[in-house]
Amino acid sequence: MIFKKIEQNRTADAIVRQVEELVLAGILRPGDKLPGERELAKMIDVSRPILRDAIKVLEERGLVVTRHGEGSFVADVTGAVFSEAIVPLFHNHKKATADYVEFRREVEGTAAAFAAVRATEADRTILTRTFEAMLAAHEKDDFDEEAAIDVELHNVIGECTHNLVFIHTLRSCYRLLTSGVFYNRSLIYGFPGARDKLLDQHRAIYEAIIARDPERARRAAAAHMEYVEECMREIDRLGGWEAVAELRLKKHDAAAAERARRRTRREPKRAGAAGATGAAGATGAAGGPANE
Ligand SMILES: [Zn+2]
Repeated sequence: MIFKKIEQNRTADAIVRQVEELVLAGILRPGDKLPGERELAKMIDVSRPILRDAIKVLEERGLVVTRHGEGSFVADVTGAVFSEAIVPLFHNHKKATADYVEFRREVEGTAAAFAAVRATEADRTILTRTFEAMLAAHEKDDFDEEAAIDVELHNVIGECTHNLVFIHTLRSCYRLLTSGVFYNRSLIYGFPGARDKLLDQHRAIYEAIIARDPERARRAAAAHMEYVEECMREIDRLGGWEAVAELRLKKHDAAAAERARRRTRREPKRAGAAGATGAAGATGAAGGPANE
């Protein structure tokens, strides 16, 4: 049970503070449902009117949302690292993606190193469970689940840093990832051999953290991001090839249209010049494209 009994001073303020701490520490995540009023009041050991007051304050502060008939939930407190105006620019400018991956390489490296030093036994249990879920998804060949657990594993590593800024900044970054702002993750997972390589990289990060080896964890996390970077470049190159091939196709289409235009221009002339040359005109038109 994550909610603690309040021993003394059973005020709404004390409840608010407890929920705030849980949100700040990343224990309560956006969208998490709070227990029902009766249950929660019992857990915290306060009266229901006091709890109701506390929920009202939490709602006013934007930390909790109550949906009629559904209950109270942790609000979407994950702030956007970037404004809505700049996000589409990231999508359309390649340098932004490269910069994002570079930023993540550094930050993830540090997060993994911190995690190796700071992860508690409980953290290590969560980390192990998450990695095992990833293995299971991999064996099941469940693409989407594996990609979702990928994000979750990075989130858990962020939580192992016990640094509130890391936890919330990384979460915000991963949201950009899941929304496909920088690159389409399914593209990377679809790369030949990528699934096995990514799993090996995640295993290397996981094992280094469990071994409490910060330098190895840092290197493993950086290597993981370098691989993503490499994939991005390759996808880009393929995209480039696609663009070139498309231009070629356009040129082909334009040439074919031009030939068709010339043919229709020539044909009525021939047909009008002399009725007897109709057959020859047809031959000429048919022979035309073969000569070009
Ligand atoms: Zn990953």
